[in-house]
Amino acid sequence: MTSRSRYDVAIVGAGHNGLTAAAYLAKAGLSVVVLERLGNVGGAAVSAEAFAGHPTRLSRYSYLVSLLPDQIVTDLGLDIDLVSRPTASYTPVDRDGKPGGLLVERVEGEQTRQSFHALTGSDEEYEAWRTFYTDVARLGWVVAPTLLQPLPRASQIRSQVHPTTWNDIVVAPLGETIERRFTDDTIRGIVATDALIGTFASLHDPALVQNRCFLYHLIGNGTGEWRVPVGGMGAVTDALTKSALDAGAEIVTGAGVRSIRPGAGAAEVVWHDGYNDQGLQADVVLANVAPWVLGLLLGEPHDDTTKPEGAQLKINFLLDRLPQLRSGVDPEVAFAGTLHLSEGYGELLSAYGAAAAGRLPDPLPGEVYCHSLTDPSILGDAPAGTHTLTYFGIHTPASLFEADPEGTKQEAVRRAIASLDAHLVEPLQTCIARDAHGQPCIEAKIPQDIERDLAMPGGHIFHGDLEWPWAPDRARLETPAERWGVQTSHDEVLLCGSGARRGGAVSGIAGHNAAQAVLESR
Ligand SMILES: Cc1cc2nc3c(=O)[nH]c(=O)nc-3n(C[C@H](O)[C@H](O)[C@H](O)COP(=O)(O)OP(=O)(O)OC[C@H]3O[C@@H](n4cnc5c(N)ncnc54)[C@H](O)[C@@H]3O)c2cc1C
Repeated sequence: MTSRSRYDVAIVGAGHNGLTAAAYLAKAGLSVVVLERLGNVGGAAVSAEAFAGHPTRLSRYSYLVSLLPDQIVTDLGLDIDLVSRPTASYTPVDRDGKPGGLLVERVEGEQTRQSFHALTGSDEEYEAWRTFYTDVARLGWVVAPTLLQPLPRASQIRSQVHPTTWNDIVVAPLGETIERRFTDDTIRGIVATDALIGTFASLHDPALVQNRCFLYHLIGNGTGEWRVPVGGMGAVTDALTKSALDAGAEIVTGAGVRSIRPGAGAAEVVWHDGYNDQGLQADVVLANVAPWVLGLLLGEPHDDTTKPEGAQLKINFLLDRLPQLRSGVDPEVAFAGTLHLSEGYGELLSAYGAAAAGRLPDPLPGEVYCHSLTDPSILGDAPAGTHTLTYFGIHTPASLFEADPEGTKQEAVRRAIASLDAHLVEPLQTCIARDAHGQPCIEAKIPQDIERDLAMPGGHIFHGDLEWPWAPDRARLETPAERWGVQTSHDEVLLCGSGARRGGAVSGIAGHNAAQAVLESR
């Protein structure tokens, strides 16, 4: 139940963005209610004890934070700790039958340079890498400070970066850029992966959705560093919930919104509490749900052709011990960052081709991360040596699982494990812990699972394709909602989730920007 029947603002969904908006608006003195269909808040930003008999709290869906601006942490007084990983990435490779690998330190130094040299035979590729990422960083420095401001226009951003950088990241399909600037297949692949995490696209797609995904992965706080939230993603949501509640927002869980009816100067929201329909009025409704879901709630005609489609395979493992790699690298170094598997450039191109033609890629490209190396607090009182391992597989669109979801999922998990096993001294299976029922601690989520669990349409982790974090030069920017990139076709309904412009990922940016649009309208 809600404490009243009319609010200044009703927020549909208590994902981290809905909570961010609630905290800002309640702090500004507005009456705010958040309605969440699940029994818990956080959406994709939650921690869970996924394995019976184990106290470990895993970040069940999202796991790393880059795009959450420090300003939001300060404004909302969030008690969160984001910790750097000692390794940026490790890529095991097998060349001429010899196991090796590329190590990129978080703060790149001599070891990184030597690793490039050993893999590629000269310093040229590392020079190309440094030049490329310096160019990208310069674009990031321009874009990052604008993310919590009214939208800049494309030309404003373009005028502040070198024309080559603009062309290579914003105009040319990223595949072309990568092929022009790098020669080594492994290096090309590592660069390309940031364009494909959460985005199913060809690297040469003229629509450039892969370029936009790449940019989001590299602009967080102007550094693009991905850090581990201490206590897992649930700790981020806990801090946002506390901030919203302390400021006076009401949060109702188990409240699935069924319809939103915008009217003159107010909107009616109908939700179901598990027994009955309930209704309330609000001056403004903020939709933390995906734009496609919002369309359904607004009673717009159902159109499956515009439904987003997710393409990732997320697997959480609990291990008794970390496996040894054939390359001889210390597992505590290799697994501490992003460990790339079957993500060579050629493999990425073939995997996309296979998936686009309706076949599960083999090998399956993906990456693994061991967060407990950076944040052992999530392990609870697990025995020494226990570690979490997160796998994020790409190029596995929902359509591949439609005919036989369970069978195809099992095969995808087998291929994911095989891609790691290819680089291990002993099979991963021998390191996986058992749960209280004697089953291996493996939790796999295909897009269909994500849609069922979180109501992300098609299991798309960003609620839909990412947009450029600026407005086209000719865009209408007349209303506050348009200026903040949160508009819908109704004045009383704004987006405040991942599907807003600049909303993708765990950032709180969409929540902040929707709140600013509301405050500016009053
Ligand atoms: C497997 C996975 C891994 C990811 N990894 C990362 C990562 O490491 N780092 C990163 O930055 N991003 C990652 N992402 C993306 C990121 O998690 C999302 O973009 C982000 O969490 C979206 O937040 P949100 O608050 O906008 O929406 P959501 O988290 O989707 O929250 C929306 C909320 O609305 C609720 N809702 C839906 N329909 C209704 C309704 N009718 N009535 C009431 N409530 C409703 C949902 O239950 C949910 O709680 C990942 C996502 C997934 C799925």
